[in-house]
Amino acid sequence: MAAKAVVLVSGGLDSTLAALLLKEQGVEVHGIHFSTGFCLSEHKRTMSFFGAAQGEARPETQRAETNLRVDVRNVDLGEEYLETVLHPKHGYGANINPCIDCRIMMLRKAKSYADEIGARIVATGEVIGQRPMSQRRDTMRIIEKESGLEGRLVRPLCAKRLPPTEPEKQGLLDRARLLDFCGRGRRPQMELIASKGITDYPLPAGGCCFLTDRNYAARFRDLVAHSAGRKLTRDDLVLLKTGRHFRLSPALKLVAARDEGECRFLELFSEGRVRFEAIDVSGPVALSDGPPPSKEEELLCARIVARFSAGKNLPEVAVEARGGGSEPRTYMAAPIRDEMVLSKLRVLSE
Ligand code: SF4
Repeated sequence: MAAKAVVLVSGGLDSTLAALLLKEQGVEVHGIHFSTGFCLSEHKRTMSFFGAAQGEARPETQRAETNLRVDVRNVDLGEEYLETVLHPKHGYGANINPCIDCRIMMLRKAKSYADEIGARIVATGEVIGQRPMSQRRDTMRIIEKESGLEGRLVRPLCAKRLPPTEPEKQGLLDRARLLDFCGRGRRPQMELIASKGITDYPLPAGGCCFLTDRNYAARFRDLVAHSAGRKLTRDDLVLLKTGRHFRLSPALKLVAARDEGECRFLELFSEGRVRFEAIDVSGPVALSDGPPPSKEEELLCARIVARFSAGKNLPEVAVEARGGGSEPRTYMAAPIRDEMVLSKLRVLSE
């Protein structure tokens, strides 16, 4: 009977190749794909659904299934992942990416799936030295240990640079047919996968996760600093992915859409917030985030909305505010012209 393996697949180059290498050894491969809620391509796909910038049309799971001809189980990490992002035991990488904790969580779940289906191998597309936090020899060891997969976790792309695993020792895998890749370059992987006739995978240009993004990290830190102990929700973190963010007071922010797609997306979050939009000229939808703004704060919101509207060069723009427990009201708002003032309000990375 063929050995079974659960392979973590992202739909990208490395994990596809790792799964293929196992399949070539006659292993029965079962894919598992994790949704963290912070995947850039997933967000682009959502935004393209709302009519914004184009993203990859097919979900990663589907692409992996097509390229590998295997079933892929999709697992949403949900609120549990949020906790990992907020309180990672092993800390953050360069931004707010808790890569070590993230990998441990994914691998624990992959292990459960492997146990459930009787797979003795769990594999990933990791390559030593490819990522600064989670793909160093020492952190790979920690991840393996804390996920409960010591000796059972196979990294086919760099296996020859690591001690032999149990599946190799037991003859389930031929070590000689595993690889010895290392470092950040992807050329060997690209050449190898092309030789196997696969050309459809996302370009491995990095930046696959919002948590590694400097601006997202700046917004996240701003939110945490101003949450005053309030328990953050997934919606809070989803909203950070969208639009321009302006900090108006310790408790209050304004989030303004940057394009049509974001306007439609923000509408999903309008309940319980004040919604601003220019009336006579086109412009962004913007939402307050925090307690209902005062009249002065609403006027400031309206001036920001006016600044990003088609009437930004007019003396005044009519901006309607809805919500906040009052009847709709209109502000005649002078667009903010002082870029210094605007950039001071804007939540950006240093
Ligand atoms: S970049 Fe880090 S935090 Fe983001 S999905 Fe990958 S391992 Fe997880």
